[in-house]
Amino acid sequence: MEIEIATIGGYEEVGRQMTAVRAGNDIVIFDMGLNLSKVLIHDNIRTEGMHSLDLIDMGAIPDDRIMSDLEGDVKAIVPTHGHLDHIGAISKLAHRYDAPVVASPFTIELVKGELADEQKFDSGNDLVKMDAGETMSIGDSGKVELEFVNVTHSIIDAINPVLHTPEGAVVYGLDKRMDHTPVIGDPIDMKRFREIGREGEGVLCYIEDCTNANKKGRTQSENVAREHLRDVLYSMEDYDGGIVATTFSSHIARVKSLVEFAKDIGRQPVLLGRSMEQYSGTAERMGFAEFPDDLGMFGHRNSVDRTFERIMNEGKEDYLPVVTGHQGEPRAMLTRMGRGETPYELDDGDKVVFSAGIIPEPTNEGQRYQAEKLLGMQGARIYSDIHVSGHLRQEGHYEMLDALQPKHVIPAHQNMKGFSGYVDLASNQGYKLGRDLHVTCNGNLIQIV
Ligand SMILES: [Zn+2]
Repeated sequence: MEIEIATIGGYEEVGRQMTAVRAGNDIVIFDMGLNLSKVLIHDNIRTEGMHSLDLIDMGAIPDDRIMSDLEGDVKAIVPTHGHLDHIGAISKLAHRYDAPVVASPFTIELVKGELADEQKFDSGNDLVKMDAGETMSIGDSGKVELEFVNVTHSIIDAINPVLHTPEGAVVYGLDKRMDHTPVIGDPIDMKRFREIGREGEGVLCYIEDCTNANKKGRTQSENVAREHLRDVLYSMEDYDGGIVATTFSSHIARVKSLVEFAKDIGRQPVLLGRSMEQYSGTAERMGFAEFPDDLGMFGHRNSVDRTFERIMNEGKEDYLPVVTGHQGEPRAMLTRMGRGETPYELDDGDKVVFSAGIIPEPTNEGQRYQAEKLLGMQGARIYSDIHVSGHLRQEGHYEMLDALQPKHVIPAHQNMKGFSGYVDLASNQGYKLGRDLHVTCNGNLIQIV
């Protein structure tokens, strides 16, 4: 059976991930993501009403026109998890394919939200939920199967899809870290990866998340970030002024830890911002996370401002607002607080806790710098980098190669510079550039069999 891989997006950047795998006449698309930084760099661009081709020209979504060079039918569109760089282009591109979107239950809920916000296109694609550990047959040949393997990442319900073919398995490894003590959900299923590496024809090809491939050592568990956060918040127990925290809205495990420790130090946590309300509300409704009954979640500007006014009237010392703006996004809550645009007023010595790293990209770095400076000018004290990454470092990559023993490897989710660490470590394991180690770019076809 012919096996061909189209590397469509996310091979020259971290963002707008999209890869298609053709097995005989059946094609499965993995991820359809957005490169948010290409949108945010323009002031006031609203993507909801924009045409796909304009977004492709901006470099914001994958240029999927190469799909016409693949001979076969798309049978499924499979986003691996709910981050926007993996699901953010589904509302713009999925309608062009007569295929269902197949994903884990939490991811499907977030895709639904994306489709509901879309104003330009109507997607008629079926949305199909599949849990980690389950399989689904692809096409009519009876020879191709899709399996979901449980992985751990900075969002709940993440999976790595595996396409089983008569030539061996194609494992799509975006995005993950190797967490054996996650705060929510099951540990990464390394046992299943080792089995896949040794059963049948083994692994034909592994497509790998190279975000942190230039970093030595091993990515720490979410439990480490949790204990770090506990230490920081407990140290503030006797402070009688304002404490404000920010993190990724989609990082439910981290939000849960923030809510818990706020309670522990005698403060009422409250989640503020549209995306805070959306992600945490969805996770709670679906039973992924339990929050206290009295936890307030407010998304609309008016209700957020009313909450801030209540906090100012009743006393900042009794509350811990968890807000958006960890990357210093100009329109986010925390940045507005820094500019003095919210009813919540910061005083000298108030604490601002960033439970997030800076996404290493010049726009983010500049905006985050600016936000921290603005907050500092209001008198705030900054606690930064209370965080662990959601992506494997080098030792994790060695472990994955050892578990899967793939015949071919394709580094993804980075640019050329970002791939270099992975090329070094894969070369150490006997892979050779151009033979079985395929460094590629957006818009390429790689014939594996
Ligand atoms: Zn991700």
